[in-house]
Order: sequence, then C-alpha cells, then structure tokens
Amino acid sequence: MTRRIAVLAGDGIGPEVTAEAVKVLEATGKQFHFQSALVGGAAYDAVGQPLPPETLELCRNSDAVLLGAVGGPKYDKIQPPSMRPEVGALLPLRRELNLYANVRPAKAMKALLNASPLKSNRGLIDLVVIRELTGGIYFAEPRERRNEGNTAVDTCMYHRHEIERITHRAFAIARQRRNEIVHVDKANVLETSRLWREIVDEIAKANTDVKVTHMLVDNCAMQLIREPSQFDVILTENMFGDIISDEASMITGSLGLLPSASLSDPKDGHVFGLYEPVHGSAPDIAGQGRANPIAAILSGALMLRYSFEDDETATRIETAVEHALEAGLRTADVFEHGCRLVSTSEFGDAVVFKLQAAA
Ligand code: NAD
Repeated sequence: MTRRIAVLAGDGIGPEVTAEAVKVLEATGKQFHFQSALVGGAAYDAVGQPLPPETLELCRNSDAVLLGAVGGPKYDKIQPPSMRPEVGALLPLRRELNLYANVRPAKAMKALLNASPLKSNRGLIDLVVIRELTGGIYFAEPRERRNEGNTAVDTCMYHRHEIERITHRAFAIARQRRNEIVHVDKANVLETSRLWREIVDEIAKANTDVKVTHMLVDNCAMQLIREPSQFDVILTENMFGDIISDEASMITGSLGLLPSASLSDPKDGHVFGLYEPVHGSAPDIAGQGRANPIAAILSGALMLRYSFEDDETATRIETAVEHALEAGLRTADVFEHGCRLVSTSEFGDAVVFKLQAAA
C-alpha cells in the first residue's frame, strides 16, 4: 500500500533536515508518495499567509504530515501577530487537524553520552513526554490586552473530554513501556490542575495495570535534572509539557536529536499524525549544512511506528542512526574530539548506507 505523506519543509533549517528524513524514508524500500506544500514564513513570502488553504487541504488528504520548522527573525514583527508563522501556521494546523496528543520521546544514545550536560552518572534518560496540545492557556479565550494595553489576560481552560482522551492515550503508550505514568501538574495552585488530577485518578482506578503518581511541575523540573531515569511516561497539560519536554530533550545532548509526533484520534484503525523535530528553524545555522538531521530522521521513524503501524522499519531507522553515530560521524552540534565532522546531508547519506547495509 502506498502511503501519502505531506511534506511541509518550512523555514530556516527545515528544508535541509526534512530532505534527509525523506531520503531515509525512501531508502527503507517501503512505498511512499511525497507531496510538498508551503508553510510558515516561506508561505507568507510566496502567497501572503503562513498556512495557505491548499496546504491544509493537502494535509487532510494525506496519511501523515512531515514538518520541518517554521519561523525566524524576518517574520517576528509581522502584523497582525496571527500572520506570524508559529501563531498563524502551527497552532491552526494542530487545531484543524485535531492533533491533541503530542508525544516526545527523549532517549540518550550511548554514542552521544558525552554530549549530555549531565553525562552518564545520573542514569540513562529514556522517557516519553505526552503533552496535551490543543487546549489550555495557549488556546482558551479571552486572550487580550486591556486598560489601554496596561493589563494582559490569558485564560487556562480544560474540558473533561480533552483530559480524558489524552490520558487514555498515555495509558496506551505506558502499556508499551514500563506501565508507569507520572502525571505533572500544579494542583496546589491551579483549578485546571485539580480537574486533571480528579480525571487521571478516575481513569487510573479503572486501569490498575498502570501505576500512576502525581508530581508538581516545579518538582518535576528539578527531578529531571536530579535523576532523569526515574521517569518513563510523563503526562501533562499544554504549557507544562512545552517546557518540560524541552528540558528533557536537552538532557540527551542537543535539540537536534529529538523527534516528536502529534496525533489525532484513530479513525478506521488509522492514526493520523504530524511528525516534526522538537527544534525550531535555527536561523543562526540555516543554509550552512551544519544542522543535525537526526531529529527529522527519527520523526520519520515515529511516523512509521504510530501512523503506519510499522514498528519493524521504525526500529531499523533508529538502529541505522545509532550505527552512524557509533561509526564516529557527528554534525557540529554534537561534535567531539576523535569523531569525523560531517554535514547535514553527509549524515543522512551515512544513515541510508547503514540502513541498506543491515537489510
Ligand atoms: P531553535 O530550536 O531554532 O534553535 C535553538 C538553538 O539550537 C540554536 O542555537 C540552533 O542553532 C540550535 N539547533 C536547533 N536545531 C538544531 C539542529 N537540528 N542541529 C543543530 N543545532 C540546532 O530555537 P530558537 O532559536 O528559539 O527559534 C528559532 C525560530 O524557530 C523562532 O522563530 C521560533 O519561533 C521558531 N521555532 C519553531 C518551532 C517549530 O516550527 N515547531 C519550534 C521552536 C521554535
């Protein structure tokens, strides 16, 4: 069966790293049909809006979406702010495609242990952050300035069904791992957090095969540094998940290593998802062949695992990445003495080579 993949390369290093992910997916020998569309600043420059209707239509007609990154200093001052790439493309894409479950694995690779600021003495990090992506303070109304601009309001709101569906998703993912969930909130202060706790506890009571504990977000931020290996699945709301997942990602060594999946509800047995690196468009290194393509390549592996139910090929890609690292190849962000410095596309070529060598 040929899978249709919408490729939204976007801005900055987005096109460079996405090209490597496509190259690696093509080398798996599976049938894919790739179709590209404009998004972000590139779309704004070409047609005056960051998410053209044709792009959204292509995503709706595809089996999965591969995204690079959007944004950059050139677009930071666009007025109105709703036309800026992040606000005008990423948020509506998530909302329109109902991508409510953001799944971010953070796993240290043995060959890169020296790249981690925590080195090896705190245990190997191998966890997944499951972040609610379409509710909470980034979406709820009102969001406005008042009193001639001297007062600002954001609203944090959650409905029962939003919490239930992401919690069920977390339970399903926990069952594929260590059967443990740490639910992260701020229940000592926030009403929304108390609702989350109530619902997570209800679901835990009915699903006793998974062990659930609660942790306050400030403690979690500290525990991730103190002993990251204590975590397996972290379930949390939108803003906490945004921050905690970036923190977890940095412990592995570089933002350039980590993939993510944003998933919607299964329909006819198919889970539609958008797959993208955790990092942004990195304007400081764009166009220089210095970007690390690992996050984008591993996002392709997640696509196989979650949307195409092809765990075997996903694992083949992940292993090929590890083999390229073990062979001593490094992009600049994770370079260390004794390794060979390679460009974005040279690393992609090496992954293809390892993939084919193992076939
Ligand atoms: P960033 O992730 O783009 O870069 C942060 C730092 O990490 C930079 O020094 C960069 O060079 C480095 N880095 C990131 N990815 C790398 C890679 N693959 N290889 C090597 N080094 C890498 O974050 P930022 O600088 O805060 O944001 C830049 C732009 O990206 C902003 O416009 C921001 O809004 C946007 N952004 C977009 C997304 C997205 O599209 N999902 C996410 C985050 C930020």
